[in-house]
Amino acid sequence: MSEHPPDHPIDLLGLTLEELTGFLVDALGERPFRARQLYRWLHQRGETDLDRMTDLSKALRAELRSRADLAPLAIDLEQRSIDGTVKYRFRTRDGRLLESVYMPAPDRKTLCVSTQVGCAMACTFCMTGTLGLQRNLTAAEIVAQVHGVNRAVARDESLTTTRPLTNLVFMGMGEPLHNFENLKTALTILQSEEGPNFSHRHITVSTVGLVPMIERLGAETDVKLAISLNASTDAQRSELMPVNRKWNIAALLDAARRFPLRQGRRITFEYVLLRGVNDADEDALRLVQLLRGIPAKVNLIPYNENPGLGFATTGEARAEAFRDILAQGRVAAFVRANRGRDIATACGQLANLAGGEARQAL
Ligand code: SAH
Repeated sequence: MSEHPPDHPIDLLGLTLEELTGFLVDALGERPFRARQLYRWLHQRGETDLDRMTDLSKALRAELRSRADLAPLAIDLEQRSIDGTVKYRFRTRDGRLLESVYMPAPDRKTLCVSTQVGCAMACTFCMTGTLGLQRNLTAAEIVAQVHGVNRAVARDESLTTTRPLTNLVFMGMGEPLHNFENLKTALTILQSEEGPNFSHRHITVSTVGLVPMIERLGAETDVKLAISLNASTDAQRSELMPVNRKWNIAALLDAARRFPLRQGRRITFEYVLLRGVNDADEDALRLVQLLRGIPAKVNLIPYNENPGLGFATTGEARAEAFRDILAQGRVAAFVRANRGRDIATACGQLANLAGGEARQAL
């Protein structure tokens, strides 16, 4: 870490405390406790302004100003839903757009975090999938979504706490396990005691089913797993989710069975209900068979229609009948409340519209 030309500044938010200590000590000749101070400013207070870090020397602050980036994302648009959901659109330094969705509830404040701009998985029903993969987000950009929304919520709700968010779900744009290294670094930072200190119980990573990476997630992290299953036969699933041609349902459920579960924990299976495609009684019955022996709960997601993709929403009565069949088969299932539909922020609708097309905040 010696030479860092100004056009390649150090991305401070993406450094673990260990890495930050290395940088400050080796490259800047500082004492290790300075790194801890800086880390707390960045990750506990969410501070982006070096001038406010008054317990750091002026010389250190000047050095950081010339060599480091503390704010890789800027909020570019906020859209508020009538149900309290807020979609934050962020702009990266290289002008890419990504979205994070804030979902407040009485007992928790959850952020749906993005891990990529676009997505390579090409699920046929998903809007983000139509973008293709533009690029991975850096660890700093993943962490910056959390800090950015913490600041915005604290400001908007006039809170005294600097970290109102309690839960994180990696269910935004992109496939988290397709950007595993950056995801893992971001989790290390977000879970660190000296930093944001999120509990593993309050973090869920959702995947389309990249089997080898599910294994790594289980071995190298302690967060909760969600799997987007979305079908009950391989023929069906391969149509909807091309990833199934590489790792089919049997391989995926094997990985689920091997996933280390802490006591009492279950794997969440997401199942998007598509009218006339995967919502028949036979699908529900097959699902019961497939999930036998796996500590599972099923989130049934009413499809959010995306114009042009050719899928329709399952009606409420059908969704409930589907859930009842799962329940009779002793599979815990919930029909997920749809949030933020009015601002196209619900599952599978994240596809950052280019500036001019974007609807204005409500
Ligand atoms: N790529 C990861 C993380 C994204 S999670 C994954 O797929 O798990 C987004 C969830 O929304 C997935 O379960 C996906 O199946 C679901 N989804 C995608 N498009 C949707 C739509 N239009 N309506 C409802 N759910 C959708």
